[in-house]
Amino acid sequence: MSYPVLFSKEVIQKRVKELGEQISKDFHGEELVVIGVLKGSFIYCADLIRELNLPVHLEFMSVSSYEGTESTGNLRVNLDINVDVAGKNVLLVEDIVDTGLTISSLVESFKKKNPKTLKVSSLLYKPARLEHKVEIDYLAFEIEDHFVIGYGLDFNGRFRELPYVGIYNGEV
Ligand code: 5GP
Repeated sequence: MSYPVLFSKEVIQKRVKELGEQISKDFHGEELVVIGVLKGSFIYCADLIRELNLPVHLEFMSVSSYEGTESTGNLRVNLDINVDVAGKNVLLVEDIVDTGLTISSLVESFKKKNPKTLKVSSLLYKPARLEHKVEIDYLAFEIEDHFVIGYGLDFNGRFRELPYVGIYNGEV
């Protein structure tokens, strides 16, 4: 079974390498706490850190965000990080920014922890769907309003293992 390919393995690899070089340049000589937002970012995160020429401390978080009274919504933390990020360089790594709710809520919550710097990287961004303004410092690809799978992204828990990012067209 295959799905229409949006970004092939080779295209992703090239772009992740470029982003890794950029991040390494920006944080030259400093330690970076990389925080992958589970589950979707695990493959992107694994590839990205291997393109970094920096001392990396890797953590993962699992969160669910939901609309609340505040504009950035509420954040339920299912798995938290194990490190104090005060005074540290922090890079939040997402699979996809859709409405922006998850990442904007995470950014607000991390600002309160007083990191030295706080940056965001996302593999994908769907501008057509954005509702919560968020700055993505290191973005691999902007996409149109498709539901995408592969390279870590799922549909009902399936397809994370696909080596490419594809468009889910309903076939199983
Ligand atoms: P947001 O909070 O930005 O609306 O949503 C972010 C989360 O929704 C992503 O981390 C991802 O889990 C899920 N999501 C949004 N769009 C897609 C998509 O096209 N494909 C997949 N697999 N997940 C998506």
